[in-house]
Amino acid sequence: MPQGGSYVLANVRLHLSLTPGFNAPVDSDGFALADIAVADGKISSITARGRSDSPAGAVDLGGRIVMPCFVDCHTHIDKGHIWPRKPNPDGTFMGALNATGADRAARWSAEDVARRMDFSLRCAYAHGTRALRTHLDSVAPQEEISWPVFETVREKWRGRIELQAACLLGIEGVRDKHWFERLAKRVAAANGVLGVVTYMLPDLEELLDQVFAQAIKHGLDLDFHADETDDVSAISLKKIAEAALWNGFEGNILVGHCCSLARQPDLDVLDTLDKVAKAGLAVVSLPMCNLYLQDRRGDKTTPRWRGVTLLHEMKARGIPVAVASDNTRDPFYAYGDLDMLEVYRMATRILHFDHPVGDWPQAVTSTPAKLMRLDGFGTLAAGGAADFVVFRGRNWTELLSRPESDRIVVRDGRTIERQLPDYAELDDLMVG
Ligand SMILES: [Zn+2]
Repeated sequence: MPQGGSYVLANVRLHLSLTPGFNAPVDSDGFALADIAVADGKISSITARGRSDSPAGAVDLGGRIVMPCFVDCHTHIDKGHIWPRKPNPDGTFMGALNATGADRAARWSAEDVARRMDFSLRCAYAHGTRALRTHLDSVAPQEEISWPVFETVREKWRGRIELQAACLLGIEGVRDKHWFERLAKRVAAANGVLGVVTYMLPDLEELLDQVFAQAIKHGLDLDFHADETDDVSAISLKKIAEAALWNGFEGNILVGHCCSLARQPDLDVLDTLDKVAKAGLAVVSLPMCNLYLQDRRGDKTTPRWRGVTLLHEMKARGIPVAVASDNTRDPFYAYGDLDMLEVYRMATRILHFDHPVGDWPQAVTSTPAKLMRLDGFGTLAAGGAADFVVFRGRNWTELLSRPESDRIVVRDGRTIERQLPDYAELDDLMVG
């Protein structure tokens, strides 16, 4: 691979759902063969193969897939990698909540959070991620620690990973109006996103109104964790959509999880999806975390459902849908490395992003970019940044069958050094 300057990558496979402004005959997978010309860190042109000869000196990639760098719109890099010192005792959601809460109270100093965040971001960067939104546990007094750390980390990573943060707390925390207003101001000062976890509390509607009021007052987008449960009575996705409509909210709203929707009767589902579409909500599914936590049984019986929400039905209604990493090596998910190819591979299997593939590749690229308001991210286009990943695979079955550990990540036209951090770097944070 060339190292910067001007060059042409010839004979690459591009997925047409990710190349606005470029058109060419596609194969049954949705790919077209193309040449990509790069100059001064930008894509200068994308040309269909066969219309002209590749220029002399072009690097022939033999039909390998090239995708734009990934956008990971739902992560928790403040929680990441605490597993060795605080495992989930039984793999349940409550086990995760309690273990994480105890670890946060005892161990989340600024240094601890900063080092684990940096570790996570080095993983994401090496795997080809260009933008990432993290939630930040913001239960007092953690917000005073984690938000300044996040601002420093965001500055350090500028130009490599575009970072966003959303505050995270159970919506019951909104009852303390003065504290919540202070938090909203803090989030606004950091250019953040206002986020809460919704549950079916008796005063949920009033609390949602408080959340929307603060978002409107401070000009914030919203990001919810909703209905991460198999309990059919969990309908907070619908409540969020209704609150968005009656508050006339005009910002972006992203809702994560929405697992219980997949367990509800069809008529209820249709009503909820109508409201979600009308309110302009976007939904992100976290398939790996859902598979891990949902339907976890304490009686040594086998899980019977996949835990994910109704992404196909949502997409069919024009609701923007994404998939993302969620947790990594913490009590909510024992595994994971912020590798969005892994997320896409797992999503393909769990959620059937195949036969046809259609435009599902947008769910890890251009769709999350749009809902994070990141222009030019998640697509490949002439005039755009030369930020892309060159894979070995030449079609979906090749791409999604192996880990693609030898993928090439190009940023600003240059191949980056893909060095995954050694777990031993965090060993001193895991003792005691
Ligand atoms: Zn989450």
